[in-house]
Amino acid sequence: MSYMLLWMNCGECGKLFASNPHKVPSIDRKIAFCKECIVRANDQRIAMGLEPIAIHPEAYEPVKD
Ligand SMILES: [Zn+2]
Repeated sequence: MSYMLLWMNCGECGKLFASNPHKVPSIDRKIAFCKECIVRANDQRIAMGLEPIAIHPEAYEPVKD
């Protein structure tokens, strides 16, 4: 069994982070966001009365083949 992680820079803060490319919150699968930025965005969304962005439990876990 192999594991795959996609390393990319966060579209918000620019930090390099590992993610599961199939599960990570992204825009058109091109721009993805690290967990810290999603959590921060959700705090703001909730404060504005918007639905929080769903974070898949495996969004930041390796993909298992
Ligand atoms: Zn970020």
